[in-house]
Amino acid sequence: MKTMTINKERLKLHIEQLGEIGKTADGGVQRLALSKEDREATLLVAEWMKEAGLSVRHDHFGNLIGRKEGQNPCLPPIMIGSHIDSVRNGGKFDGVIGVLAGIEIVHKLTELNIVHEHPIEVVAFCEEEGSRFNDGLFGSRGMVGKVKYEDLQKLDENQISRYQALKTFGFGIEPDFIDQSVRNKGDIKQYFELHIEQGPFLEKNDYPVGIVSGIAGPSWSKVKLVGEAGHAGTVPMSLRRDPLVGATEIIQELERLCMNDPEAPTVGTVGIISAFPGGANIIPESIEFTLDIRDIDLDRRNQVVRKVEEKIIQVSRNRGLEYVIDKNMEAQPVKCSENLIQSLVETSRDLGMEAPIMVSGAGHDAMFLAEITEIGMVFVRCRNGISHNPKEWAEIEDIAAGTNLLFETVLKHI
Ligand SMILES: [Zn+2]
Repeated sequence: MKTMTINKERLKLHIEQLGEIGKTADGGVQRLALSKEDREATLLVAEWMKEAGLSVRHDHFGNLIGRKEGQNPCLPPIMIGSHIDSVRNGGKFDGVIGVLAGIEIVHKLTELNIVHEHPIEVVAFCEEEGSRFNDGLFGSRGMVGKVKYEDLQKLDENQISRYQALKTFGFGIEPDFIDQSVRNKGDIKQYFELHIEQGPFLEKNDYPVGIVSGIAGPSWSKVKLVGEAGHAGTVPMSLRRDPLVGATEIIQELERLCMNDPEAPTVGTVGIISAFPGGANIIPESIEFTLDIRDIDLDRRNQVVRKVEEKIIQVSRNRGLEYVIDKNMEAQPVKCSENLIQSLVETSRDLGMEAPIMVSGAGHDAMFLAEITEIGMVFVRCRNGISHNPKEWAEIEDIAAGTNLLFETVLKHI
């Protein structure tokens, strides 16, 4: 393996120091977007950006942007980004390593006096997690022109609107002028993101880092089945219209459909299920459950969605139930750029690293950037695949390896 150019110790120190802000009792972090903790983290990260040679500003979506000019300031920049907000009671690596890797890469460009044509920008996107205004990927969505003024009216649990929160956050953010912060096709040459995997694939297969080929698109819906309530002791089994038993058939079918092709990364989850009226001795009158179905292949995902819906109709008919399917959101899967996948693969070979090509089941800021530019993503192995949890952990060796791979790849394009 070739020696590493980036400064692992500095990267480690920055991860540790940022992990102190909003630190929870069990070693996790809680930094909700545009909160006091987010502000403190922003000030610290902005300081590090300046030390690395970046000039710092905020756009009107609340994105923190550091920029270093290249030889030709008219060329579009290469952008490296992720987020520093967290979920409630989250971990200290999710998002953070992508922003700090970007800063480390610029640090090295500056320290080694590397001449580059394109400018480089490092971005910490506002509210990726959506844990405050329940509306994730806000900053990256905004940057590509997918946020409308009415989206700014979303409220947090204290009835503070996002508009107000942006306005009072400072740093010159003016939510009335979000239009001025939209970037278009051609404005960014390429976008790179380093992120923890948040799943068990790399660890199971013993790779420190992986190269992402695409990000799965989720289909989210809510299903309601209505039957007839009754006394758990007196209504004979053959006369029941129990929607909960019907749901179990549907959930089993969902699992079967997703496992149909063992090679495919299709996943389906029922994460919430509630029975009404909800009594130990009452046959439920109605039940509601959520469906989360994801795949990197849109046709394959839609086929699973359709077959689950067929099953809902069939079960309802057989059991005398009524059904309602509420589609909440359907996002397209996103492909990473072939050019950048190729470039990352070649660079990893040059470095003597073996990095598998893999898909991302979780959404990331890169998803929206893909609407206006080429995206390249690198995943870092994380312990037991655990994320959004104080137990989230990634080894600094792996984070450094991923950062170095990104550094060497960026050098080829900048
Ligand atoms: Zn993240």
